[in-house]
Amino acid sequence: MGFRVNVYAVRGVLIDTAFHDVRAELAAWLDANRPDGAIVTHYHEDHAGNVELLAARGMPMWIAPATLTKVRTPDSILWYRRWCWGAQAPLVSPVQQFAHPSLEAIHTPGHSSEHHVVWDAERETVFGGDLFLGVKVRVTHPWPREDVRAQIASIRKVIALNPKRYFDGHRGLVRDPVPQLIAKADWTEETVGRIDALVDRGLSDREIVRSIFDGEDKWSIVTQYDYSRRNYVASVRATHAAGL
Ligand SMILES: [Zn+2]
Repeated sequence: MGFRVNVYAVRGVLIDTAFHDVRAELAAWLDANRPDGAIVTHYHEDHAGNVELLAARGMPMWIAPATLTKVRTPDSILWYRRWCWGAQAPLVSPVQQFAHPSLEAIHTPGHSSEHHVVWDAERETVFGGDLFLGVKVRVTHPWPREDVRAQIASIRKVIALNPKRYFDGHRGLVRDPVPQLIAKADWTEETVGRIDALVDRGLSDREIVRSIFDGEDKWSIVTQYDYSRRNYVASVRATHAAGL
């Protein structure tokens, strides 16, 4: 489908576990490279798809408590995600706790409520999971699975670290990341402000999608609106109504 996902190995630590359909390749890599442990950024099946494989092999993992709950009983995912990545096996094996003195997991909610980035302060490097993806991302999963407004604060939190290198979960190395992160935070904030103004004027989600985004795109249709611009608008409306 033209998607790719990256896992990273740094300081003997695996960051994320890729998707279920590449479990054989990942197992072969683990046999050859024997990392000390793994860190999982969030529960989505393209990042946490092989947590059971790692746990069953006795590999220690850092995984946020909310992520752990999610991967023990994975949500059923729509056909396009099963087809693209494969449904993940539920985590049933016990997880040994893992920590690395040079790698810090920082809570960055928005893309999902339990999303974390990994920060290597000494090397000024961020492993960003799905925090960035691109400057102008106009499609999201439905609220409250995805919270557009929370993303802005999370991106600004990472900007404040002033990273020199940034590795994205899908795009790979993002060069000169701070200006791109600032552009994303600014664009998202401006877009949210425009949506808020149209909500206040009484426009419907559909009218706002048409006004701000010039309608839906092909991924909205392909995913039956699971990943869509109307979700983006609905997320902004929900947090606007709640005064968040
Ligand atoms: Zn994700």
